[in-house]
Amino acid sequence: MNPPSHLRPAWIEISRTRLRENWLRIAADKPAGVSVLNVIKANAYGHGAIEVARVALSSGADWLGVVTLDEALALRDAGIQAPILMIGERLPEELPWCANHRLTVATGEPDTARAWDQLGRERGTRLPLHLKVDTGMSRYGARWTAMEDLFSVAINAQGVVCDGLFTHFAQSDESDKTFARQQLARFQEVVTLAHRCGLAPRWLHTANSGGFLDLPETHFNLVRLGILPLGVYPSTVCRRISGIEPVMTVKARLSVVKTLESGDAVGYGMRWKAEGPRRVGIVPLGYGDGFPRIRNAGWVLVRGQQAPILGSVAMDAFAVDITPIADAARWDEVVVMGAQGSLEITAHDLARWKGSVSYDILTGWRSRLPRITV
Ligand SMILES: *Cc1c(COP(=O)(O)O)cnc(C)c1O
Repeated sequence: MNPPSHLRPAWIEISRTRLRENWLRIAADKPAGVSVLNVIKANAYGHGAIEVARVALSSGADWLGVVTLDEALALRDAGIQAPILMIGERLPEELPWCANHRLTVATGEPDTARAWDQLGRERGTRLPLHLKVDTGMSRYGARWTAMEDLFSVAINAQGVVCDGLFTHFAQSDESDKTFARQQLARFQEVVTLAHRCGLAPRWLHTANSGGFLDLPETHFNLVRLGILPLGVYPSTVCRRISGIEPVMTVKARLSVVKTLESGDAVGYGMRWKAEGPRRVGIVPLGYGDGFPRIRNAGWVLVRGQQAPILGSVAMDAFAVDITPIADAARWDEVVVMGAQGSLEITAHDLARWKGSVSYDILTGWRSRLPRITV
C-alpha cells in the first residue's frame, strides 16, 4: 500500500476558500453582461484543473478553456458539462474526439474549419466553432488583413455554427497599452467585416486577465481569465482588485538543522562558504519539484522571518540560513511560496529570482509535490 500523499515534508496547499473568494471579487468587479471563460490549461496553472473548474462553474464562470485534448477529456470524464473552448490548433485526428465530447474547436486555419464543417455535415449536426484572428501576436489565428478564406468557409458551412470570434493580446498587462489598443482596433475591423459578410458570432472575446483588469474596452461579451482567479496578477503593474489573494501556497518542513563552522561550504559546487558560525536548515525540496535552480539568491519564511538560501538549490534539497531565527527547530514549517506571519513570498518574487514570469513559477511545480486542498 502507498503512504497517503501528504506523507512528505514538502507539499502544495490549494485553498478552495480563497478561490471562491477571488471569484466573488471578480464577479463584483465585472461589468454586467460580460461572461467569463476560465482558462484552466496546464492543470489550472498547476492548481488542479478539476477542482478549479468546479469552483469556477459554481461561482459564475460559464465557459472553460484548455489547450490539449487530454485536458478536455479529463474534465468531461469528471462529469463537467460546461462548454469547453479548445485553445490552439487541432490535429485532424483530434476533431472526431472533439465532436464526441461536445468541445468547441477554435481555429484560424481554413483547412481545419473545413474539416470541422465536413464532420458536422456527416453527423447531421452543427458543431461549435470559434474563429481566431491574429491581430499581431503572430501565433495562432488568421491574419487580420486576410480573413477572406476563413470567413468564406464559415459563411458556406452547414456543419458548423460560427459561435465565436476572438483574438489574443501580446501585451495587455504592462504599463504601455499602445500595442494592445492597436490589436483591439484591428479586431474591431474584423468584427465589422464579419457582420458585413453575414456572420454573427455570438461570442466576441479578446481579454485575458491583463485586458480584463486594465482595458475595459476589450471585454466585449466574454473574457478569458486564467491567472487572476488564482489570486496572482498577470504583472506587478496592472490594476488591483481588493481582496484577491493567492490560492496556492508551497510549504515544507525543515528536515535537518545543523551548525556550521567558519570556512564550511554548502552544497554542490561549494557556492557558499560560512564566514563564521552559522545555523543552517535544510528544506527538503528542490528543482526536481519545480523550485528554480537558483544559487545564493532568494529566501524562504521560517517562524515569520526571512531565511536566505545558501549555495545552489539541488534536485531534492537546499540550505537556508536560520542563524538569526534563534528558536527555529527541526520540522518547523517553512513557506517556500505564500504568506507566513506578516511576510509573503509571491510567485512574482520567485519569478524575479529565476529570471522568468509568475505563470512559469505556478505551472512549474511538479506532480512529485503532493497537492492538498484545504
Ligand atoms: C492562457 C490564455 C488566456 C489566459 O491568460 P491569463 O493571463 O492567465 O488570464 C487567455 N486566452 C488565451 C488564448 C490563452 O492562451
